[in-house]
Amino acid sequence: MVNKILIGIVGVQGAISEHINSMKNALYKLNIKGDIIVIKDSFQIDEIDALIIPGGESTTISNILQKSGLYNEIFKKIKEKNLPIMGTCAGCVLLASELVEDIKEIKLLYAMNMKVKRNAYGGQRESFECDIDIKGFKKQYNAIFIRAPIIQKVWGDCEIIAKFEDDIIMARQGKFLALSFHPELTDDIRIQKYFIDMI
Ligand code: GLN
Repeated sequence: MVNKILIGIVGVQGAISEHINSMKNALYKLNIKGDIIVIKDSFQIDEIDALIIPGGESTTISNILQKSGLYNEIFKKIKEKNLPIMGTCAGCVLLASELVEDIKEIKLLYAMNMKVKRNAYGGQRESFECDIDIKGFKKQYNAIFIRAPIIQKVWGDCEIIAKFEDDIIMARQGKFLALSFHPELTDDIRIQKYFIDMI
């Protein structure tokens, strides 16, 4: 890992401040030198060691990414496979290579070999939390789902890291990590640590 890490968070829409706070808290608790910056312009992508794409509204985030030129910059890094990226919820949607339902507003980043279903938990379970098992974690993790997507299938070298019942809700492919839940909304820093360890 580099001496001092700089983590960027895509700052166009969604749970931005929550990610900043939880990542700062994680860096502090893990005694790791680092900072987190909000990414709004494409030139900033070259400055960072890792990127978070937050939850929010995937159509809106995708739209602004394309208009700002950020889409092209992030896509380039994905092709080069050298920038660790964590996508949560809407961010998970954008990291996919396929959606169950194509939506013209969403331009996927094709980072991970996974097919994602948006808003997979309708009705009363639209938002909920539950304890899940995560590969490599000794104790269960309390995961918060908000209009969450599920990863319907993965292929190639995309690995399933966690499931809720029969649904895949966390996957990793090399330097890319996708979660359908919101790690920034809990005090548990294990997901942040998992991502920092990928840098
Ligand atoms: N359902 C939203 C979408 O697909 C994601 C919800 C979230 O990020 N909390 O954009």
